[in-house]
Amino acid sequence: MTFRSLPRRLLSVGLGLSALASLGADAPEAKPAPPAAPAIAVPAAPLPKVRLFTTGGTIQSKGANRQKLAEYNDGRVTPQELIDDLPELKAVARVDFDDISNIGSPGVNTEVQLKLAKAINAWLAQPDSAGAVVTHGTATLEETAYFLQLVVKSDKPVVVVGAMRPWTGISRDGPLNLYNAVRTAASPDAVAKGVMVLLNDTIHSARFVTKNNTYRVDTFVSRELGPIGYADSDRIAFYRTPLTRHTTNSEFNIDKLEALPAVDIVYGYQEASPAPIEALVAAGVKGIVLDDTAPSFNRASAGAMAKGIIIVQSDRKGSGRVLLSERTAGRGVITADNLNAQKARVLLRLALTKTTDAKEIQRMFSEY
Ligand code: ASP
Repeated sequence: MTFRSLPRRLLSVGLGLSALASLGADAPEAKPAPPAAPAIAVPAAPLPKVRLFTTGGTIQSKGANRQKLAEYNDGRVTPQELIDDLPELKAVARVDFDDISNIGSPGVNTEVQLKLAKAINAWLAQPDSAGAVVTHGTATLEETAYFLQLVVKSDKPVVVVGAMRPWTGISRDGPLNLYNAVRTAASPDAVAKGVMVLLNDTIHSARFVTKNNTYRVDTFVSRELGPIGYADSDRIAFYRTPLTRHTTNSEFNIDKLEALPAVDIVYGYQEASPAPIEALVAAGVKGIVLDDTAPSFNRASAGAMAKGIIIVQSDRKGSGRVLLSERTAGRGVITADNLNAQKARVLLRLALTKTTDAKEIQRMFSEY
């Protein structure tokens, strides 16, 4: 029997009795009782402590129409509202929050990412903390999740969660995603799995996950390698663990950083112009990620590298590795392995906090 089904059964028994009592009497018609709050069985043993770090996004958005699932700029859901909306959490963890920002994820910038990562590191360094959950808009969620994968200094679980439907929508997905994220962050089985992304009951590694669809609730996929587990109602079930370097095994440290080197992305397509690369060089970027190739890029990239700018070759196909080759290495170009361009940018920025040596940066792209 679920937590929710219990009070409903009691409620329907109660309504049946009151209907019987009113038979033959002149009593006014009984008003239906409001739905009962779920009966939560709180375990006697102290529950694990999980902290919610909220940044904004659809999971914290309200709309005026329940049925217009893509129109929702009518207010923000506060962290306390998110927690109060889920009394079921009381049986899972002691949940507190840290309100980091209140923005859509395209607006998440270096300042927000550094603030978030430092706050998570401080929380997870406390001996009695069990895990962390981050609410985030889905558009750039994979970038923040991968950033955290590289800079969190703890093997305690960190779960990044979002929603595809606003808090006010019919069949909203946020509360179940959040409930499952807290369950996962509180699970001893989630320790040392790196940073995870959870939507639609599915647990992905931050390293491999990407947003795959503009609108559907099953938008997050790990294209070639699949999810690492599921948050099902009986248990959090893990089947795999990522082998790329992360968290406690990462060489990157943001403790003392207030900014990160500028890196931008240039898209490749037929007849792509070299102008964006030249403009970025003139703007003073430290690195450029090419999302595919174009004939005009070779000369423009050579010009950029001559000025000490690091060039990383990614690929717009969305899955598959960019292989190491003598030809690209000979030109001084770094290959992104199977990181998409937006994640390659995250790694390149952190790599540039340590070195500008192309061979060293290539090593990092092979290891992270
Ligand atoms: N626009 C939203 C964002 O903040 C989309 C979402 O959260 O799903 O990314």
